[in-house]
Amino acid sequence: MFDLTGKTALVTGGSRGLGRAIALALAGQGADVAVNYRGNAEAADEVAQQITSGGRRAVTIQGDTSAGREACEAIVKEALDGLGSVDILVNNAGITRDNLLMRMDGEEWDAVISTNLSGPFWMTRAIARPMLKARSGRIINMSSAAGRMGNAGQANYAAAKAGLIGLTKTTARELASRGITCNAIAPGLIETDLTADLPEAATEALKALTPLGYVGSVEDVAAAAVYFASDEARYVTGQVLGVDGGIVMGS
Ligand code: NAD
Repeated sequence: MFDLTGKTALVTGGSRGLGRAIALALAGQGADVAVNYRGNAEAADEVAQQITSGGRRAVTIQGDTSAGREACEAIVKEALDGLGSVDILVNNAGITRDNLLMRMDGEEWDAVISTNLSGPFWMTRAIARPMLKARSGRIINMSSAAGRMGNAGQANYAAAKAGLIGLTKTTARELASRGITCNAIAPGLIETDLTADLPEAATEALKALTPLGYVGSVEDVAAAAVYFASDEARYVTGQVLGVDGGIVMGS
């Protein structure tokens, strides 16, 4: 089940947190992986070393996915040059700049939209051509429960993550006839550096809203990425999978 031997993957923001866990999980199932990172080369190298010590190929690629078309095209080109192909793209890189609506400034809005929404758009644009040529591919977008239900203090983040769901469904429709699927994962509260700074009261409030009652792990999310990347998920496209302890129950 979920054998990714011979597949190649590119994971944005792959040096830590969910991206790191996804890169390692894809490699654990047999994939070769390009690990994109923005600043922390040492952390990216550590992920690549773990992958190569498990017998798979890994390359690290410095690049800022929020920097627009050329930056994203350069990341994709480097992954293609390094691995020969990219069968799986995971648009994972993301940031938060939380503030109440009435206090949110343009910098906070723009930074989150350009990283969490424009980044995946330009990465998808860049990967679409080689995937169309190959007549196969898997695109996996990291959305969030906040994009499905809203979250006070996260107008920018929730808007970007909801927009990413629209991008996911449209990409799925446009590329389906060429054997390319596009799906989104919408995690709830997961223990990473991103959520470590949340005030205790906010974490407790979110836990109280979560039917399963606890904070999820990066492995819970990585398992969903492995599934969407697999041949077994060939008939699944345009879907949003909540890995969220049940905080959102969509129909
Ligand atoms: P994290 O902050 O630990 O890791 C995010 C990674 O993305 C970091 O390595 C960071 O350097 C990288 N990154 C940020 N901006 C980048 C850019 N412009 N270019 C390249 N890399 C960039 O966060 P995480 O918790 O691992 O989150 C990963 C993804 O999952 C994000 O998209 C986040 O919004 C989403 N998410 C996380 C949670 C959670 O509870 N942790 C919940 C829902 C969704």
